[in-house]
Amino acid sequence: IHTGGMAYEKTYVMLKPGVLQRRLTGIILQRLEEKGLTLAALKLMVIPREIAERHYAEHSQRPFFPDLISYTTSGPVVAMVVCGENAIARVRALAGPTRIEEAPPGTIRGDFAAVTRKNVIHTSDCSESARREIELFFSPGEILEYEDPNADWTY
Ligand code: ADP
Ligand code: MG
Repeated sequence: IHTGGMAYEKTYVMLKPGVLQRRLTGIILQRLEEKGLTLAALKLMVIPREIAERHYAEHSQRPFFPDLISYTTSGPVVAMVVCGENAIARVRALAGPTRIEEAPPGTIRGDFAAVTRKNVIHTSDCSESARREIELFFSPGEILEYEDPNADWTY
């Protein structure tokens, strides 16, 4: 659905290890859905080390990289493709800032994260990352495009 002035985007969203065990999946998905964002793909997976390293390649020289990779591969994640008008920026706004001390109440990280490395949710930071990350975690056949009869009032 295209509406004036906004860009219809797909973004990669991942609920990090521990979210399933904490039973937070539903409440986090609800926050995305109640803002009018649309799920186009959704699956549980344990991320292979090599894929985690490619996903976080931009951080490979950072001191926290080894811990980030072992955490990211430590248990099942909920991987998804979320779409909607300006979805990339809107999902990042719902997630909140990376550092938990800076994440305000009302954001997903502000409400549910206690440690920066385990900050509950990953969301793509720009359209190039979104394209790269979606391709890394999903095959084209796993991503569904479907009509939204409510789009008129959602946007
Ligand atoms: P974001 O996930 O908000 O896009 P970054 O891309 O900067 O944040 O970092 C990727 C992930 O690496 C963060 O979500 C967080 O889990 C982890 N991370 C970032 N900075 C730190 C840090 N200083 N210490 C520990 N982990 C960090
Ligand atoms: Mg990032």
